[in-house]
Amino acid sequence: MLLEETRNRVQELLQNLKEKGFRITGQRRIIVETLVENQGSHFNARELLQFAQKKDPTLGFATLYRTLLVLEDIGFVRQINTGEGFNRYEAPGRDVVLHLLCASCGKITRFREQENKLRVLSVWAAEEGYEISPQSVQIYGVCSECLARNISCRTSDSRARRPL
Ligand SMILES: [Zn+2]
Repeated sequence: MLLEETRNRVQELLQNLKEKGFRITGQRRIIVETLVENQGSHFNARELLQFAQKKDPTLGFATLYRTLLVLEDIGFVRQINTGEGFNRYEAPGRDVVLHLLCASCGKITRFREQENKLRVLSVWAAEEGYEISPQSVQIYGVCSECLARNISCRTSDSRARRPL
């Protein structure tokens, strides 16, 4: 994302937040900036804190966590549960994004040729009279590396896998 585009998106979000009654403090602005700058990275709270602290070393975990809760409440942040024992966060963009998420190692893979796939999805939604909102969609599965290690989605015991 271009620097100017990032700045505009941050401004747009902060303006929106203000309209929803969210008080904009310096640290909250930094958290929103960090989320937008790292869109698509799906950081956990610790990683987000590290990035945010590069801008303000006094920013604490409690502030970050409270801000994430508020942002989530008003729909500016989404939690992604990767089954790793902690949540990852993302700021939804303007588009629909399709991901595959490995239930074994937590790896997140963006589908290639999103446009074609989204077009199909839009047609399915339109059949039900829906227009799809911007969001990121996680489809759970097991990645190729985990499959190569004989981890399957049905069983984690490789010896239980029998040829059909
Ligand atoms: Zn995996």
